[in-house]
Amino acid sequence: MTGLVFDVKEFALHDGSGLRTTVFLKGCPLRCAWCHNPEGMRPVREIARDLKKCRHCGLCRTPCDHEECRDLGVCVKICPEDAVRAVGKVMTPEELSRRLLKNREFLEEGGVTFSGGEPLLQAGFIRETAALLPGISLAVETSAHIDPEIFRRAIAGIDEIYADLKLIDPALHEKWTGVRNDLILGNLRRLMESGRIFTVRVPLIPGVTDTPENLSGIASFLEPGRRTVRVELIPYNPVTGAKYRSVGREYRPAFDEKAPLRKDLSPFREKGIAAVAY
Ligand code: SF4
Ligand code: SF4
Repeated sequence: MTGLVFDVKEFALHDGSGLRTTVFLKGCPLRCAWCHNPEGMRPVREIARDLKKCRHCGLCRTPCDHEECRDLGVCVKICPEDAVRAVGKVMTPEELSRRLLKNREFLEEGGVTFSGGEPLLQAGFIRETAALLPGISLAVETSAHIDPEIFRRAIAGIDEIYADLKLIDPALHEKWTGVRNDLILGNLRRLMESGRIFTVRVPLIPGVTDTPENLSGIASFLEPGRRTVRVELIPYNPVTGAKYRSVGREYRPAFDEKAPLRKDLSPFREKGIAAVAY
């Protein structure tokens, strides 16, 4: 069993209770127009280039037989400007848990959060890693766009669940994320019915998800779980196009990035749902 990890970040403040170590797992079934982790979307290792450093010498195209360059089609080690890096590291649960437990004291204060990408695409890897982290608080940040049975089993051993709900209208959800929201709504509905405490995160995208219709629609959907659901409104994070360009893509969002955001908590509070805006 191996997983594909594209980052491990320590001292994360908003990824669960306390200070967290967040593990970013590669691969996501969604294509959100505002995604600020474009390097986490594809479920394969890929190359990122620091375009500020690159001198276009072409040396990295040279074939090589380095272990770490395998499957990438370019040489990662040859760049004289240190501008090439591989995104995505294949790790076993033992390797990842060893890496995490180097800071055991810190983990015992906070915990480990699995994020992505969509971490539950690698549910088996999470389960096996979690088994090697006894006594450590675990959280997951998920799109909830996952087969219901996989979702149910994956969250069983997780202490804190943070699930996104971006758009309540199925057609708009498909337009902006590439997938319909029926799997997501089904998983969240069952979570509410189960009585588990969890957090729903709504990324606020100007003119897309922060509309009165969307926030009211989400509040109505979550009303049956008002005693166990907490809502967080997460403001749009203007991404630098450079992050997209570094992995060979363009960032051209079809919304006005600079439009003021509506951080309106009233639809939730009117229905008795605990809600905060960041
Ligand atoms: S080797 Fe480095 S500097 Fe040369 S083209 Fe590749 S990324 Fe750019
Ligand atoms: S669900 Fe998250 S990681 Fe996946 S595309 Fe959307 S914003 Fe990016």
